[in-house]
Amino acid sequence: MDDSSAHSTHEEPPASQMMLVAGPCSAESRQQVVGIAQGLRSLGVTHYRAALWKPRTRPGSFEGVGVEGLAWLQEVQASTGLKVGTEVCLPEQVEAVRAAGLDFVWIGARTVSNPFMVEAIAEQLEGATQTVLVKNPISPDAPLWMGAIERIKSRGVAEVMAILRGCTPVYTKQMRNNPHWEMIAELRALYQKRYGTEVQLPLLLDPSHIAGRADLLEAVCRTGMLYPIDGFMIECHCDPEHAWTDARQQIKPSELHQLLKALQHPSSDHEAMLRPMRYQLHDLDSAIVELLAERHKLTQTIGRYKQANHLEPYQEEQRALVEAHYTEQAAQYGLDPDWAKQIYALIHTYSLEEQRAVSSEDVTKNKN
Ligand code: PEP
Ligand code: MN
Repeated sequence: MDDSSAHSTHEEPPASQMMLVAGPCSAESRQQVVGIAQGLRSLGVTHYRAALWKPRTRPGSFEGVGVEGLAWLQEVQASTGLKVGTEVCLPEQVEAVRAAGLDFVWIGARTVSNPFMVEAIAEQLEGATQTVLVKNPISPDAPLWMGAIERIKSRGVAEVMAILRGCTPVYTKQMRNNPHWEMIAELRALYQKRYGTEVQLPLLLDPSHIAGRADLLEAVCRTGMLYPIDGFMIECHCDPEHAWTDARQQIKPSELHQLLKALQHPSSDHEAMLRPMRYQLHDLDSAIVELLAERHKLTQTIGRYKQANHLEPYQEEQRALVEAHYTEQAAQYGLDPDWAKQIYALIHTYSLEEQRAVSSEDVTKNKN
């Protein structure tokens, strides 16, 4: 990649210096592993990935080819000069990878979420020359991510990097994971606090696991490039449709070539580039309406209770309490407290009207 990511608003390394990790989600066969590597070798890819062990959500799914695939990665290493790596989920996998002389490993989001397992893996990585890439945990918990990085670094591992792959979404449904861009700054701040400003933590973006679908990759990459990132990890497969895992999000080497070329210039298709963000916004707006509807139902019940017990719908003390809660919480999240107060005023007025309506309805009903 060369440097023409001029649309970025942040200082970032020229794209030519960006690290590019690419390869299939899972290693499936020797032919598949070697074939994809051949397709990627001339594209500016520096690191070749293929998972040999797959932590799956449900039992009975394909859990990886295991140690058998180490030889396939060694073959890629020898024949292409690419640095090769795989995911490690257990200490014995680290042992096998080190013995096989692979160049890097990554620790997946599920594993990073488990500090005892990270510690066990870190122990096995003592003094490793392999680069270790640490994905963010499945929840937006920057200290947990940082904790995993610290555990690995404390074992004298030569090089440690972070990968943002997004977090399990609560409200957003269109993309596989919520990017949680804010975690980049949170992690960097924690890292600087712990290791000082001299040492920079390289951070890669994994748009494949964020988007979960190939058509949104470019947009996610471009949004990511608005932040200080040092490279990408992108899943590629020669036959994405028939990939054994993550079929929807993988792209062919030729498509990666197109993507990398596209990223060298600003896009004029702003609609397409804004699409994932609009999806997220749409889902969040739906969630707000759903929450308001739930709140509305609850205030109706409260209205009934107050009516049955001859209580006034308006209770000043309660209103003041909730308003204080709104403004304090808004401030904690960096929102304007006055704006939060106005929103609460609207919500509260509506709730009062509803409670009064419920009361008069019940009074009318009782009279009839
Ligand atoms: C992967 O990289 O294929 C993978 C399973 O990643 P994650 O841990 O981010 O889900
Ligand atoms: Mn995958």
